Amino acid sequence: MNFEVDDIKILGAIEGGAKTIKAIMETSKVDKKQLELILVIFEESGLIKSVEGKGIWGDRKFFFSPTDAGSKKVNEYIAELNEKWKRIIQFVTDGERDQLDEYMKQNKYLANMMLYFNIINLPAISRLNLRFLIEGKHLCYKCKKELGKYSNKFTVPDCRKRGLKVPKGLTTHDDLCADCFDGLAVR
Ligand SMILES: [Zn+2]
Repeated sequence: MNFEVDDIKILGAIEGGAKTIKAIMETSKVDKKQLELILVIFEESGLIKSVEGKGIWGDRKFFFSPTDAGSKKVNEYIAELNEKWKRIIQFVTDGERDQLDEYMKQNKYLANMMLYFNIINLPAISRLNLRFLIEGKHLCYKCKKELGKYSNKFTVPDCRKRGLKVPKGLTTHDDLCADCFDGLAVR
């Protein structure tokens, strides 16, 4: 099957230990309808297995796990991301900014996926002066969800104003989505 961004995010979430629809949704941020469709295709393609069990209310619940083929697919993708990251670092080291820009244009979701699979993290990107890689994408600092033009964004001053604990590493250039902001502990 031809893998799209959502597909690899979902398979990555399952490989990372998300077992239920709810957990996979929380990690991947893919909506439920789309997720269910993809899970069916994955199971038919032999990438995941599902076991039917019972939820706490005795309701039907499915538990998902990756097959060897599914794990292999995710690990290959992560290896590919690592290679691409090395390539980016090489462009930076060589001062080939134009080539880097072109490379990032050709690999549209690269920075997003590198964050999702923890190949890179925001503090590392900041240290390397590579924030431009993800700028314009407006990702939530915490969950990496893409922040739309009209979605609520919360910053360090907002955390302070409400007396909330500022997430480690959050700078004044970063934004949080409403869900992550609501989930912050009180100082
Ligand atoms: Zn968030």
